[in-house]
Amino acid sequence: MMKPAIIAHGGAGDVPLDLAKKRLDGVIEAVSYAWDLLISGDSALNAVVEAVRIMEDNPWLNAGRGSSLNADGYVEMDALVMDGTTLKAGAVAAVRRIRNPILLARLVMERTNHILLVGEGAEKFAQSQGMKLVDPEELIVPYQREKWEKAKMTSGASIDTVGAVALDFEGNIAVAVSTGGLFMKLPGRVGDTPIIGAGGYADSNIGGACATGLGEAAMRVLLSKKIVDLLEMGYDPQTAARMGIEYMEKRTNGSCGVIVLDKFGRVGFYKNTRMLLYAYKTKDKFDAQIYI
Ligand code: ASP
Repeated sequence: MMKPAIIAHGGAGDVPLDLAKKRLDGVIEAVSYAWDLLISGDSALNAVVEAVRIMEDNPWLNAGRGSSLNADGYVEMDALVMDGTTLKAGAVAAVRRIRNPILLARLVMERTNHILLVGEGAEKFAQSQGMKLVDPEELIVPYQREKWEKAKMTSGASIDTVGAVALDFEGNIAVAVSTGGLFMKLPGRVGDTPIIGAGGYADSNIGGACATGLGEAAMRVLLSKKIVDLLEMGYDPQTAARMGIEYMEKRTNGSCGVIVLDKFGRVGFYKNTRMLLYAYKTKDKFDAQIYI
């Protein structure tokens, strides 16, 4: 048994190497923090939420502060958390004034009978729970603003997001995912990230997975659930990750990356994008890579 275990990613896509390195540092910081929680007996749920919160706070990663801008030049964010033991989930989409969307997603899971709240309703709920709304400008970092200014005359999307899957000592598996979504997306567009089974899925009896990349492709094949189903069929996480990506590519021609963790604490990761930034830690191993 390799309990506990944590794997996280900082996005797939194609970014300059110096930016990829900064992003990987953020992923490593998140994994190290979450590992310490797990090793001290904390839950997989707390571990993934904290890992993602740390990555949301990192200005170089496309989630929370530092999110990509949409076509109109502002940030709209999506996030999901899922507890693989209860199969409960909480998600928010198209929120603009939330510093840490993953914390709001957790409140949706724990304090409502709903799963997904969007836009203004989600922000109203945040306020009702004592969460402070921020000025949307606070979420915009200079690097993202410059990128938007340069790109607004051209077309093109770039992809990267953050996510984590963890297994705790009790055998609970949880997943958390958060994103600013596709760069230059239409205002109001929601991707795979807050959709259960597309952006993330966890079942403590089997394993968990989360996706990054072209959300429209991940949604069309419910990529994360597909991979958990492959685990259930007996494939190991690395094979399930590869089969999931190959299936998504064959059926949609899209580009995505995935990270996977099974109930035994075995990890998998795969992508058909140029890069996938990931880090993981198990009892026996720590690994972090700009996987090209
Ligand atoms: N999957 C996210 C989305 O489509 C973006 C990403 O992972 O880069 O919104």
